[in-house]
Amino acid sequence: MVTINTCTECNVEKLMHARNMCGNCYKRVGVPKKECSNCNELKPHHAKDLCTRCYINLNHLDYIKKYQQNKKSVAQLFKDL
Ligand SMILES: [Zn+2]
Ligand SMILES: [Zn+2]
Repeated sequence: MVTINTCTECNVEKLMHARNMCGNCYKRVGVPKKECSNCNELKPHHAKDLCTRCYINLNHLDYIKKYQQNKKSVAQLFKDL
């Protein structure tokens, strides 16, 4: 479906790509940034008002534990996301 709308980033009326942004802005901006409710930093929003890192820390500790059992570092886990 083709939608022409005003881009929320550049305010130009264009073909929308996703999230009311044109293709250029979507590429540039990507995931909308939001203040994380845990670390209060403005970061790309992951879910439930949390940034990716906090979301994992708060919700996926088991996942991290399993990951570590596979002898992969948590740093690698964040790279893979
Ligand atoms: Zn735009
Ligand atoms: Zn956070």
